[in-house]
Amino acid sequence: MGIKMSQARDQKGHIWDADTYQKGRGAEPLLCMHCETTVAHNPPYPKEMYDKPVFVPGYFRLMPKRAHAPNCQHGVDEEINKIAKASEDLIESLEHDKYRLRLVMIQEALGTETSKPKQGDGERAKAGHTYSSSPGLLPAYINSANRVLKLRAMCESNAEMEQHLELVFEGNVSVSWDQFYFDQDRHMHAYHAVSQNTVQHPIALQGQIKSIRYAVQNKPSSNVINLVMNKLRSDPDDSTNGIGLEVSVWSNQPDWFKDFAVDDEVVILGIWKHSIAAPRPAPMQGGRFKTLTNRRLMLNLALKSQISRVEPLKR
Ligand SMILES: [Zn+2]
Repeated sequence: MGIKMSQARDQKGHIWDADTYQKGRGAEPLLCMHCETTVAHNPPYPKEMYDKPVFVPGYFRLMPKRAHAPNCQHGVDEEINKIAKASEDLIESLEHDKYRLRLVMIQEALGTETSKPKQGDGERAKAGHTYSSSPGLLPAYINSANRVLKLRAMCESNAEMEQHLELVFEGNVSVSWDQFYFDQDRHMHAYHAVSQNTVQHPIALQGQIKSIRYAVQNKPSSNVINLVMNKLRSDPDDSTNGIGLEVSVWSNQPDWFKDFAVDDEVVILGIWKHSIAAPRPAPMQGGRFKTLTNRRLMLNLALKSQISRVEPLKR
């Protein structure tokens, strides 16, 4: 339901914070800080994760089927419009409120282009459409993609983006947002997509940093960020086996991780690899599972900008 908001105002003009508001405290219905549309409150809550609960912040959101006024800074279309204008053609405008982003251009920017032959000087014709990518603009494409990802991270779900921004891959094949952007709750979906090879294009994972380790096993080129893991799931074929998923991002450049800290909320874009470890005995005796199996999603960064911090919610 639109972009999540950290504050709202009530009918008497009092301002309330999403993390401390309780239903009925203000003169409802509450309103957006910037336009007259009415908003609802989602309170904060602790969420059970692999080893400790995490705090999910509260937020205000649009009521169903409502929209922000034109030019309100919480309108998704308004924000996409701004990003598209500065995107060096990564995002093209199709019609009012509708845009298209080419994942091939992101793939090229990451240096992981597929082996399709190029036509002419970087210009390609695909099903009647022509676009050109310029090598000098590749970092700009990643920056624009990051702005899109940060916008998505501020939304409640993929549906808000899907409405306004179409994703296409090679040959103008349409890619759903659910196959491109995976928030914390959908990490296992990302694993399935990557391991079953249903996606060839770059995908984005959102999560919280659990640890940052430098020079792993004394190798200076071995540096890794691990994301907080979701709760173990029960193996459908063997209920005594717990299945976990580790998400890790590797870089041979330790400097690339210096801007990040444990607990930061980040989004990571790239071509992921997967692996699966053999089951091992569960460390706790008498627990729910006798054995644990770890699945892994891994990414080697080609560019520092593939990982970026999610911005805090705006008022
Ligand atoms: Zn508004």
